[in-house]
Amino acid sequence: MFENLSERLGGVFDRLTKQGALSEEDVRSALREVRVALLEADVSLPVARDFIKRVETKATGAAVTKSVTPGQQVVKIVHDELVAVLRGEGDPGALKIDNPPAPILMVGLQGGGKTTTTAKIAKRLKEREKKRVLMASLDTNRPAAMEQLAILGQQIGVDVLPIVKGESAVQIARRAKSQATLGGYDVYLLDTAGRLQIDEVLMAEVAEVRDVVHPRETLLVVDGLTGQVAVEVAQEFDAKVGITGVVLTRMDGDGRGGAALSMRAVTGKPIRFVGTGEKLDALETFEPERIAGRILG
Ligand code: GDP
Repeated sequence: MFENLSERLGGVFDRLTKQGALSEEDVRSALREVRVALLEADVSLPVARDFIKRVETKATGAAVTKSVTPGQQVVKIVHDELVAVLRGEGDPGALKIDNPPAPILMVGLQGGGKTTTTAKIAKRLKEREKKRVLMASLDTNRPAAMEQLAILGQQIGVDVLPIVKGESAVQIARRAKSQATLGGYDVYLLDTAGRLQIDEVLMAEVAEVRDVVHPRETLLVVDGLTGQVAVEVAQEFDAKVGITGVVLTRMDGDGRGGAALSMRAVTGKPIRFVGTGEKLDALETFEPERIAGRILG
């Protein structure tokens, strides 16, 4: 099991006499522990290093208030800094869906939770925002994926574009667009094809679809437990297709959430939602405080 960071820092500071301010040496030994905690939480090494530098500047010379121990003080500084890095601009849960019908493009690798997340977002828009939502699967290679979306649509009472055999992804996207316009929908979600790994054909196809529908949001769905891989996937998709936000799935798992920090630090893209289970209401708006707490253990 992971040791709690506060306890660990407690150990570091026990040896030190209480002073009015945190000395450089105090801070340095504390930050060694913080660094280990970050790496254990699956934060990538360069991101952890940069982060530690930021904290070092803030912590050195910070006055130790009477009510807290130096250990708690450093934990608070680390926590606040984590939240600052994790927080994107604006409300992560507020999708840009004015000007109906608003297209939302869902992208990601196969198995990351893209189709499930598409249905979760559709459900949320329907129930919380009372939007008329249409979903369409563009996964022409995998009939099972198309059927999966159709079944999920039935479960949540959201319309799914009928499957027409032999159409290309771009043709389906065009049909979804016209159906969404004619049918008076507020939003249409396009669940693009996933691959086991990033490939040029997939990227070219997604880019073509993007150019046809001009999405208001392009959300990348990645498995939050895959850590550094998730960050690389995000960089690649952002470079080739352009993403407006990230959904981290499987945050109900054992991971410590470090991928979230690396994701923010490396891509600069906001994390919008986290998936917290297989059920279709297991989707939460991203809260930096919650992930910060988890990273610190
Ligand atoms: P896709 O290939 O990216 O479309 O992935 P799917 O949506 O088919 O999801 C793959 C598996 O992951 C399914 O069994 C989902 O139920 C599961 N899944 C998706 N999101 C989450 C999540 O947030 N937590 C958990 N525990 N499972 C999830």
